[in-house]
Amino acid sequence: MDSTIFIPGVKQEDLTRIFKEFKIKDISELTKLARSKKIRKLKGFNSKTEMAILRGIKLIENQPDYLPIGIALDFSNILITELKAWPHISQVLLVGDLRRGVEKIKSIDILLKANYIELKDSLEKILLLDNEVSSSNKKTIYNSKLGIPVIFHFSSSREWGTDCILTTGSGQHLASLAKIVNTLPKFETEEEVYKNLNLPWIPPEIRETGYETEFAREGILPELIDINEIKGDLHIHSRWSDGSNTIEEIILNGIKLGYEYVAITDHSQALKMAGGLRPEDLMRQIEEINKLQLKYPQIRILKGIEVDILEDGTLDFTDDILNKLDIVIASIHSHFEMSKGDMTKRIIKALKHPLVKIIAHPTGRILGKRPGYKVDINEVINAAAQTNKVLEVNASPDRLDIRDIHLQIAKTRGVKIAINTDAHHIQSMEDMIFGVQTAKRGWQGKENIINTWSYDKLINYLSSI
Ligand SMILES: [Zn+2]
Ligand SMILES: [Zn+2]
Repeated sequence: MDSTIFIPGVKQEDLTRIFKEFKIKDISELTKLARSKKIRKLKGFNSKTEMAILRGIKLIENQPDYLPIGIALDFSNILITELKAWPHISQVLLVGDLRRGVEKIKSIDILLKANYIELKDSLEKILLLDNEVSSSNKKTIYNSKLGIPVIFHFSSSREWGTDCILTTGSGQHLASLAKIVNTLPKFETEEEVYKNLNLPWIPPEIRETGYETEFAREGILPELIDINEIKGDLHIHSRWSDGSNTIEEIILNGIKLGYEYVAITDHSQALKMAGGLRPEDLMRQIEEINKLQLKYPQIRILKGIEVDILEDGTLDFTDDILNKLDIVIASIHSHFEMSKGDMTKRIIKALKHPLVKIIAHPTGRILGKRPGYKVDINEVINAAAQTNKVLEVNASPDRLDIRDIHLQIAKTRGVKIAINTDAHHIQSMEDMIFGVQTAKRGWQGKENIINTWSYDKLINYLSSI
């Protein structure tokens, strides 16, 4: 395969395999192949692979002015792996918007502890990059195959910390520092720079509006959630609906991730396209989980459902079925074209249902694809606050829903949050990091995030609301 090929949303090793098996050479042949529906015949692939390829190709063709964070990160990781192998570079750090966890990425910024002159020729040979736009000893900018620029920043040991801060931004954060000192002092670490300004180190995810600097100065920065505090994942799909893995594979992966619990939450019957479960399927699934729970006592498996919220705000299953479950997540997958008032009422009606505990992906957006339905998220947050119900941060990098600014509002009202991956494949259970990053941007600490709690505390809480 031509190593200049990168398709957003498709893993490089999958692409390499497809190119090899079908002996194709370029993107136009790949497009034809995906359309001919032949890729699904290869072991390990299915129609979703073909869809992902076609969607990824379309995204590149459209040359967007921003990329969803997940895609930008996949692309950056390929670059970074290559750069880390080079002898002239002693340190590589992803900076800019990506380091701060911004959801729409307009440029990929990479800070290198290296000398530009020594690297110039090698950088030009990176096949994923196009032409150089501008260059200096401090930074050089390239166009990339994705449409958004890649900016390499150069630094030395002596001023590494200072350059980390300058290249991470945001502009408003730097402006807030400039009010304290005209030019940032040069130090090897970020901590030393902040300390010199009489500030604690400020996490990149909240270096945004400049207010964080005020909070830091007052000594009242919140303690932010850390990925190691996550004890489980409460929204996962199995092969019973549209997921790719068996429940046992999900359990084993949960154990591998060090989780105390996982919830199996497949779709309900209304979502036929996604293999939604009928009541009788759910009963059989419950039996399977009971058996697996005996086999794997080291992790708790919550029996759950992602039940569809129907057009009128009622649920896709009757109470006697939902009553058999440990956790009920409700969400919108249909009738997106409603007025804001109707949609808000619809969601709040579901949220107030006594058996519903979590509202999943509350605004329904897909980054780079659709903006989400119209909903008054403030009212949903208020309703969650009144009822002690939980709102989800959907950690899928395509969703990040609810988003950072809504999380800040939710925090002021004490709303409980669950950070869930909504994984349809066990690999996506690792998307948790994106949800945690979004929660950090929402100034969230572990106290309100229910999947940082122990199993007992979680179950007690869910049965109390
Ligand atoms: Zn969903
Ligand atoms: Zn889901």
